[in-house]
Amino acid sequence: KKRNPNDKEFLQAVEEVFESLNIIADVHPEELDDDVLERLVEPERQIIFRVPWVDDNGKTQVNRGYRVEFNSAIGPYKGGLRFHPSVNISIIKFLGFEQVLKNSLTTLPMGGGKGGSDFDPKGKSDREVMRFCQSFMSELYRHIGPNTDVPAGDIGVGGREVGYLFGQYKRLKNEYSGVLTGKGLTFGGSLIRTEATGYGLCYFTQALLKDNGTSFEGKTVTISGSGNVAIYACEKATQLGAKVVTMSDSNGFVYDPEGIDLDLVKDIKEVRRGRIKEYVEKRPNATYTPNARPWTVACDIALPCATQNELDLEDAKALVANKVFAVCEGANMPTTPEAIHYLMKNGVFYAPGKASNAGGVACSGLEMSQNAQHLSWTAEEVDQKLENIMVNIFETCRDTAKEYGHEKEYVVGANIAGFLKVAKAMKAQGTV
Ligand code: NDP
Repeated sequence: KKRNPNDKEFLQAVEEVFESLNIIADVHPEELDDDVLERLVEPERQIIFRVPWVDDNGKTQVNRGYRVEFNSAIGPYKGGLRFHPSVNISIIKFLGFEQVLKNSLTTLPMGGGKGGSDFDPKGKSDREVMRFCQSFMSELYRHIGPNTDVPAGDIGVGGREVGYLFGQYKRLKNEYSGVLTGKGLTFGGSLIRTEATGYGLCYFTQALLKDNGTSFEGKTVTISGSGNVAIYACEKATQLGAKVVTMSDSNGFVYDPEGIDLDLVKDIKEVRRGRIKEYVEKRPNATYTPNARPWTVACDIALPCATQNELDLEDAKALVANKVFAVCEGANMPTTPEAIHYLMKNGVFYAPGKASNAGGVACSGLEMSQNAQHLSWTAEEVDQKLENIMVNIFETCRDTAKEYGHEKEYVVGANIAGFLKVAKAMKAQGTV
């Protein structure tokens, strides 16, 4: 706290994890080591840089770029880039810290990092986005590499942005490598990477439901967001027999009692880059509520897939009043600490993002493996590996929570299991 007095989101993420790690002190104190804890919360390296670019009117714009290389104990730094006006060092550090534990849970050899910029891609032309990405990479390229640090997408960074970033890296380094994941399928991308976070979230949720005697079949699901994670969570939940009734963006949410028409959402968001309110123009039975979140809509399962702190105590109360069964996070840290406590106290199953949304980075790990071997696996192969990884993560969270005396508290299991592997690797490598 002394070192990071203004880093609100970062402190929130660390405090949540330390709450679980305190349990280790009671059960297996020999596994806790102050020296490791202090190193764990201090990023190995933080890079902040100027990103100048010229807009379509010929005016020079300046944004700030970030890359926080948080921890490389178990593999090269790995984690996405976020382009959103709210980006600051606290947000990048919270995401980087979560990423360290998440990547550990995947069992793949990946350390943790995160980066991005306060650049807002909304309303920018393709050429402006390209010039921004080229300028961003003109600095970032010195710090990354296929065996050093491998960025990917996150909010505001999808296939288009990754393509521009990759092109500039290749040009500057004169090297064709798997330095970024989430690449297009014609230049080294992996099948299923686009779908992986949303699909993975549903595989995790399915495992949780099964373990508690139920399934997606016939369930009503509310989803927030309408970006990459939300769209593919909606697709898989529907395939698994659920009815998804909401989607949202930062301006409001749509409620479709007949079930979300995902082709329409994909057309609005992926093809036209429009806003979710356009949905009701084509679906007269659906309603659009501006300046609100979807958590007041009755559901069995809630999947927050937009951004941090988008489900607070009031939302949790509404969900509990409507008898929600499980809240599983697609976004990173979408549920506030007060909301998490309230949900769990009221018997709602809660899956923390660092476990339930790990499918994206897991598939990125699979993309790195394919790039390193210069081959591509089929969609079925990748999807099967993804499902196995997510079921395995669920079982690790479940079993670890039980071992430490907190059965069914998957957040405890996720934090402890993610931490123990990293801590062991850090100790073995000495004080570095
Ligand atoms: P996208 O940019 O594709 O979509 C983001 C969605 O969230 C949009 O609908 C956006 O609405 C909404 N949103 C963003 N900021 C806010 C806000 N401040 N308030 C309300 N809504 C907001 O991003 P992704 O789908 O990739 O990411 C969503 C979440 O999932 C993030 O927390 C991300 O860190 C996490 N995640 C993503 C992974 C991936 O592989 N992509 C992997 C693991 C986690 P609007 O258009 O109005 O901004």
